[in-house]
Amino acid sequence: MTAAERIPTALCFDVEDIVAPQSDDAILWLAEILHEHGLTGSFMVVGEKARLWERRGRRDVIEALKKHHVAYHSTWHSVHPTTTEICLDKDFAAGMNALREWDQQGMADTERIFGRPLIGWARTGTSWGPSVMGLMGEMGRAYAYSHVYLPGHNVCWYAGCLGFQGEGIGGFDATFYEDALFEKKLAQVQREVDDFDKTDRRGAQWLCFFMCHPTRVIHTEFWDAVNFAKGANPPREQWKPANRHPDALIPTMQNNYRRLCEYLRGNDRLEIVGWGELIRRYDGQRPFATHAQVEEMARRVAQERQVVFTDHFSAGEILLLLCRAAATPQERYPRPTVYGPLSTPPVSSSSAEWAARDIKEAARAVEEEAARTGYLPASVTVSGRTIGLGTYFVALAEAILGRDPVSGPSDAFYPPAAEAVAQEVARALPQWVIHPENMDLSLLLEQTRLQCWTLKPAWSREAVFG
Ligand SMILES: [Zn+2]
Repeated sequence: MTAAERIPTALCFDVEDIVAPQSDDAILWLAEILHEHGLTGSFMVVGEKARLWERRGRRDVIEALKKHHVAYHSTWHSVHPTTTEICLDKDFAAGMNALREWDQQGMADTERIFGRPLIGWARTGTSWGPSVMGLMGEMGRAYAYSHVYLPGHNVCWYAGCLGFQGEGIGGFDATFYEDALFEKKLAQVQREVDDFDKTDRRGAQWLCFFMCHPTRVIHTEFWDAVNFAKGANPPREQWKPANRHPDALIPTMQNNYRRLCEYLRGNDRLEIVGWGELIRRYDGQRPFATHAQVEEMARRVAQERQVVFTDHFSAGEILLLLCRAAATPQERYPRPTVYGPLSTPPVSSSSAEWAARDIKEAARAVEEEAARTGYLPASVTVSGRTIGLGTYFVALAEAILGRDPVSGPSDAFYPPAAEAVAQEVARALPQWVIHPENMDLSLLLEQTRLQCWTLKPAWSREAVFG
């Protein structure tokens, strides 16, 4: 089997228990045994955990992890406010500012402790907001366990960030300590890998092979569920450790973990790499579009009469390319970067028509606002009238194609794919036991849809650059 046919696979560990120091030893042997088997893991580390290692003098744990790939798993994980709770009442831009303020010290400390940059952020629980991907994109990092994906594509660009979808295979947490449980889980995982191998996948792809939460290997329950469930936020001196398995079971845990490592090493369909290797492989994007390509995109937009993205350009990028082609036509245009609007575009009159010249004339103002703010405007003023961004998108495509007068759909707010993305977020977010019940997700979901102006599939560098 050639390398191209094998499934790019990252072995992921979530390292997050900031209560029980015993979990440090579990991390150490998990990382060392993995390395002994010649396997590279991807360890998602909570910032406060790294600071505790430094304070406790656990250089051995830090050095063991440095033989693998290390990413961020937030500063406080389940201590409230979580990522979602921070973003809940804010638009995308305000959410980015709040997360930066909440997490940048923890991230900087962790990078200092490891002496290297963290390659990205891995979702904590189900906690997510579009802003956390925005923040990682702004910092040139990737995002793991993303809720955002497209049919057949489990690695996608969103909010300027390369996002790797989260629904993985594996999760050996509560199985290593007992042979029968482990064997059942391993057989199930082998079937799931077989099934994954048969699925139809396009473009950039990964198999998120979730190994375990080291803390949950040695404890009978989650460290955070016993302290922070349903919004509970006791002060640090009241944090209590989860119940632990007897130490006498550790040899059994290690024995079964070795069997998992042997299965992984022996499976020739899996190409096991660190997550950072996949980020490098997939972070290429088309640097420009030719005028002919822009015209082709305009034809598709005009034909479908909705907010469209393509394999290589997000809807926001296409809109700015159309603006550039209308304002200053050239042979080719650099790929623009922009976030989606921060508020829902207004509904436009369904019978409205505009002179092509007026629509084209407004293009420069759209470009200027995008360049000045980094965001697309929700609406565009065309000869004194305000029209919604998606309406303008279609009308501008018609104008580029030489039609006159031009029109657009009255209520095109974002690409139609935004609805499935928002539904996935709405399904996942309340499922985490740490989140309070009955969170009002309406603003976060609308901000999620609006940033779908930045959504497109990712591809390998070879597919992008030839
Ligand atoms: Zn976690």
